[in-house]
Amino acid sequence: MSESTWKESAKGVIKDLRELASFTSDADGAHRVAWTPTWDKAQDWFKEKMKAEGAEISVDAANSVWAKIQGETDDAILIGSHLDCVPNGGWLDGALGVTGGMGAIKRYGKNGKKPKKTLYVVSWADEEGARFGRSCIGSSSVSGALDMEEAIKLKDNDGISFLEALKRYNLKIEDFPKARDQFMAKNIKSYLELHIEQAPVLESQGKSVACVYGITGCERQYITFTGQPAHSGAPIPMRHDAFLAAAQASLAFREIGLKYNAYCTVGKVKVTPDIVTIFPGECTISLDQRSIDPDVLKKIYEEAHDACIKAAADNKVEVVFKPVWSIPPTIFDKRLAELCKEAVKEETGEGTSMFSGPLHDAAEMAKFLPSIMMFAMSSKGLSHCKEENTPDKDLELAIAAFLRLVEKVSMNKS
Ligand SMILES: [Zn+2]
Repeated sequence: MSESTWKESAKGVIKDLRELASFTSDADGAHRVAWTPTWDKAQDWFKEKMKAEGAEISVDAANSVWAKIQGETDDAILIGSHLDCVPNGGWLDGALGVTGGMGAIKRYGKNGKKPKKTLYVVSWADEEGARFGRSCIGSSSVSGALDMEEAIKLKDNDGISFLEALKRYNLKIEDFPKARDQFMAKNIKSYLELHIEQAPVLESQGKSVACVYGITGCERQYITFTGQPAHSGAPIPMRHDAFLAAAQASLAFREIGLKYNAYCTVGKVKVTPDIVTIFPGECTISLDQRSIDPDVLKKIYEEAHDACIKAAADNKVEVVFKPVWSIPPTIFDKRLAELCKEAVKEETGEGTSMFSGPLHDAAEMAKFLPSIMMFAMSSKGLSHCKEENTPDKDLELAIAAFLRLVEKVSMNKS
């Protein structure tokens, strides 16, 4: 295929992205929160666009929408991402991957040639978990990681249960695991996902696109320091100040993260009693730690634990830990990573590769299927906000490189 056709296809994808934004976004950002009417509109738009290309449309048991173009063989490639977003989100997060897949289908759709391998594009249900707090609903229904007991209890901020919200879709939570059987019947051999980076690394290197060879693992916990609240007139050395212990620990987390080139984030701080004239008797903080290296993840977790014990002792308070979630690092398929780097190099002149800090549906797929991701740079690293953007010239390069990757995987024997 000639250079110009990749770029032409990429321009078509950008057009689709703008069309999607035109009816799902306004001056306050994008509003495609899963299980809301605007998300439904986006899913319907995807169905109609793909139907017009001659693709076969289906909706699985977890409400993920699928488009299929039959290839010369039944061996299939799956391209996926999500059309849902966070409230007041950006126009590219998730949407880039789905429209990128649409771009691939258009190359092989009714106007193009038959692809070597069968091509599927999926718009996964509820990747963000923005309304009910559980991420990757569609892809984890397929991977088997969806915890049904947890899913049954989910509620949104208005107290509406997930089960109640599903009624509008004529869906039952107990049917969600059937999405796995539906998936297995499709003979899918590899999973590809194009996404924006959502961090400023590529921009800082002056790069537009990279192969993503893995996703960091994560350890998430709540840490509660308990002392004795009392009057702000008490002498400092005699206090049992829970907040100061949490603050000391938080500064230590920063140093631990820097030392191992890993991520340590305190995102939540809750002090009790939360009164200006009382030093807190209790302080709970969240700690989210990430690394691509499982040994480093273990080390930063242990060192953070030790730092909390020290901070508690220094401030004469108690500390307890409550682990909430953990996932090991994902390393993507090596063969697909090679093809991905090749595609990036052909388009940009450099085979840039990196790992991802944020989680993606691809992590669910990689549990049982050769998978790979590609990133487009994010301006200022901003995402999950209305300012989220990637300039057209960078988007074009990323989409063109991704379409090259689809072609490579389609031609590849295994
Ligand atoms: Zn996303």
